[in-house]
Amino acid sequence: MTHLSDNLSHVQARIAAASMASGRGLGSVHLLAVSKTFGADDVRAVAACGQRDFGENYIQEGVEKITKLAAQTHTPALVWHCIGPVQSNKTKLVAEHFDWVHTLDRLKIAQRLNDQRPPHLPALQVCIQVNIDGGDTKSGVAATEVLALAREVAKLPRLTLRGLMTIPDPVDGFDAQVAVHSKARAVFDQVKAALNPPQFDTLSMGMTGDLEAAIQAGSTLVRVGTAIFGGRTYPA
Ligand SMILES: *Cc1c(COP(=O)(O)O)cnc(C)c1O
Repeated sequence: MTHLSDNLSHVQARIAAASMASGRGLGSVHLLAVSKTFGADDVRAVAACGQRDFGENYIQEGVEKITKLAAQTHTPALVWHCIGPVQSNKTKLVAEHFDWVHTLDRLKIAQRLNDQRPPHLPALQVCIQVNIDGGDTKSGVAATEVLALAREVAKLPRLTLRGLMTIPDPVDGFDAQVAVHSKARAVFDQVKAALNPPQFDTLSMGMTGDLEAAIQAGSTLVRVGTAIFGGRTYPA
């Protein structure tokens, strides 16, 4: 398991260096460890190094890990982020098991999550996913429609609107990466100026390949899988 702690330290060092290089304080960027396709044992090993926030794409897989780890008294309390698409028939599972959802892109899903969030849990923390570069087939809300959705989501009492999330298509070169992430930053600033939701503080962008550029553009949360857990193999 040593390689996991080495990988985690390396990613933390990359985040620290990028934060300094962009004139931002240490600790201004959170790390979300993306554990999709990896088992509960790997999550536990990374948690043992102090990492607390974990991200999952596939609801069923995520819920299995969450349940398994929550039952282990020697595993610290973890914060679970849903970063994959959420269909209507999965909202209940998400509302009952996750702490965060990064991929909100429809009011209907927001309403279901709001209605299904169990009363004994704190409000679900949500980000609206913005399709910053893409065509019609990409998930996420068009930049021009983010504010209207944010206005409605902010009214839902069992959700707390925390910010925006984006997954730009890979582009070559640091400057090109910064340029696309900066568009998301601009939408974030626009929503903040127009609506100023009480806890609107999260810009979720940057992954293994582009986290430095995302931080340069203002990311407050990077979602890193490969650089921590290694390459993924998907079931056929
Ligand atoms: C898989 C995934 C990541 C992590 O990607 P890496 O390139 O492995 O760091 C981040 N965000 C989302 C939405 C993902 O699906």
